[in-house]
Order: sequence, then C-alpha cells, then structure tokens
Amino acid sequence: MSGGIVLNELGFNILDLLELQFLENIMGRKVNETKALAENKKLVLLKEKLEKIGSDLNSLNKSYDDLKHKQKKMEDSVATQSGKIKKNEEMLFSGTITSSKELVNYQDEIKILKASSDEIENKILEIMIVIDDKIKEVKEVEDKKKEIEIQITELKENIKARIKVIKDSLKGLEKKRKIVISKIPKEYIEKYKVLKNKKGGIAIGVLRDGFCDVCNMKMPSMETEKMKDLDKLYKCSLCGRMLIVDRDEVDIIKSQIDS
Ligand SMILES: [Zn+2]
Repeated sequence: MSGGIVLNELGFNILDLLELQFLENIMGRKVNETKALAENKKLVLLKEKLEKIGSDLNSLNKSYDDLKHKQKKMEDSVATQSGKIKKNEEMLFSGTITSSKELVNYQDEIKILKASSDEIENKILEIMIVIDDKIKEVKEVEDKKKEIEIQITELKENIKARIKVIKDSLKGLEKKRKIVISKIPKEYIEKYKVLKNKKGGIAIGVLRDGFCDVCNMKMPSMETEKMKDLDKLYKCSLCGRMLIVDRDEVDIIKSQIDS
C-alpha cells in the first residue's frame, strides 16, 4: 500500500466526513465573525455620535445666522439714522432756516437720532461679543465632528482589513472543503447534510471513553462494547448523530484546520 489511506467497506475514509464537519464549522464561525464585524457596536455608537453632533452643529449655525441677521438689521438702521442726521445737519448749515423754532426742532431731532444710534451701536457691540462666542462654539463642535469622522474612517478601514483576512482564509477553507467533499460518496454527504440541519449544525460525534462528545452522554456499555471498529460509522443512541471511534487523527485533523 502506498500513501497510507485505507478505504474501508464504506468506500471512503470516515475521517474525511469529520474533517468536512470541522471545516464547515470553522467556516460558519468565520462567516459569523465577518457579520459581527460589519455590525460593529463601536461603529454604530460612533455613527450615532456623529449624527447627534451634526444636528448640534446645525442649530449652532442657525443661531449664528440669526445673530448675524440681527446685527445686519441694526447696522442698517444705524446707517438709515446717520443718513437722516446728515440731512438734518445739512439743513442746519444751509442757511435756509429762518426761525429759531425751526432751528431748535432740527437740533432736537439730531439729538434724538444720535442718542438712538448710540443705543443701537452699543447693542451691536454686545451682539458682536455673543457672535464671537458662537463662532468659537461652532469651531469646537466642528473639531469634535472631524475627530469622530476620523475615528469612523479608521475603524471602517480596520474592519475592512479584518474582514479581508477572514475572507481570504475562507477561500482557502472552501478549497479544502471541495477536495474533502470530492472524496466522500454522495449518499454520505446527503446523510451528513440532513443530520447537520436537524441537529443544530453538528452531524458527527466522536465516541471517547464511552461518551458521545457532542451530546456528552455516556453510551450504554453494552453498545460501546461493540463499537470498536475504526472504519465504521456508528450512531449515538442518545442524540442520533453519526459516531466514529476516537483516534489520534481526530485531534490532528482539528489542529491542522484551526491553524
Ligand atoms: Zn450523542
């Protein structure tokens, strides 16, 4: 015999079936890992934070716009008033005023207009201070927003890289899986699939010291007495899964797939 693969009366090496199960289990785990990565909690939290900060920034910008609008309105009315003052002063010095009553009227109006302008200008100064604070606040929130955007980009790249590593390893595992499947007769693949679906993803157990290593129940010794043939597929009388007798290769196969 060359090679060392001994085919039994089933026509294939039953360890291939176990290898198929190990492969599919680890592939399933890796697929779940990529899903969990894609739904990364930290990323979800950061996105929520970004949304919140975005709406904060909107209301800050809106209140800045309102303040600027108020400032503009006040500046406009100061301009209007200084236009009026200028006109009145021109009248005063035009030499066309003849009565002292008229003169006093113009002087009074100029006084009132100037007082009102001063008052508005003081308000403009006040509002400019508020606007300055608002600009600082906007800048702070914008910086925070940028920081979160950077964190999101970095995390996304990190997740993408991790998913790529997993997907590459999945490709390798899929190749191995196809090779293993090609070595197993179709009817056993079918049996395996049916059991796998029925039994929560695990179709085959290993009989170890009288225990089925999947359901962890001790098989009746009457039965295990008869289960000594390494080349035979048995059945766990407790969970109904296919059962193979333990041997060193079981752990070897597992560790080769895990690495
Ligand atoms: Zn069992």
